[in-house]
Amino acid sequence: PPIIVAQQLGKTYRSGKIETHALRDATFTIDRGEFVAIVGPSGSGKSTLFYLLGGLTRATGGSVTIDGVDFSSLSDAERTRKRGQKIGFIFQRFNLLPTLTARGNVELAHSIADNGQPLDQNLLHHLAELLRIENRLDNRPSELSGGEQQRVAIARALITRPAIILADEPTGNLDTENSETVLEMLRHASKEMGQTVLMITHNPEAAAIADRILYVRDGRLHDAPPPPRESRKS
Ligand code: ADP
Ligand code: ADP
Repeated sequence: PPIIVAQQLGKTYRSGKIETHALRDATFTIDRGEFVAIVGPSGSGKSTLFYLLGGLTRATGGSVTIDGVDFSSLSDAERTRKRGQKIGFIFQRFNLLPTLTARGNVELAHSIADNGQPLDQNLLHHLAELLRIENRLDNRPSELSGGEQQRVAIARALITRPAIILADEPTGNLDTENSETVLEMLRHASKEMGQTVLMITHNPEAAAIADRILYVRDGRLHDAPPPPRESRKS
């Protein structure tokens, strides 16, 4: 069965008499292990979709089921815990906690997920090696470059072995080399680890490595395969 099932999913923001239909009637499924890029102009509803899929906000219409769990039927506390267990988040601005070291940030994500398992030190070691941050784990974010901070944020997202990885413009603040590392890790997560990756992006090179592209326009979704490789510019 698909890991994400959205049915007529919608979100309307209300402030006073003003209503904004940020997302309307989104019906789609996403399979386990798929790598999906979410593309669209600014204000089209991408972040709203991201927040809905991440259980960070409540839908005002329709439903979304994530790995068998209907997030709309959970209490806030349960939703937070399920989110921590099932979803790894990666943000454009890294969002590391400044008072903790890199290792502390990764450990905190693990303890929030609260899945009763001790932190897998082998996995941490393996991720740190792949991400080339072995020597940075005892540094705080302010002591790290942007590329290093994002690589720590990826270790934090992956340490819980989430079924789903949600990435919001993960390469938006990175140079070409760091962008490539990030995209390789996401591709690896999808193709080798079977994790489902959803990535908002403005970067055509990032969208091109996805299995599928969801275009968002004026709050509506349009599904399409990525362009064929031959026609891509390199
Ligand atoms: P994108 O991520 O594609 O830029 P968003 O999902 O952030 O799009 O926004 C979609 C629409 O919803 C926009 O018109 C935006 O102004 C509006 N919107 C987003 N968040 C809020 C909010 N918290 N309150 C009111 N309107 C919002
Ligand atoms: P990257 O290619 O990963 O973005 P940089 O070339 O920007 O890295 O940085 C080179 C080295 O300098 C890295 O090891 C990084 O940790 C270190 N560095 C960068 N910014 C800072 C800082 N503000 N404080 C301490 N060390 C830093």
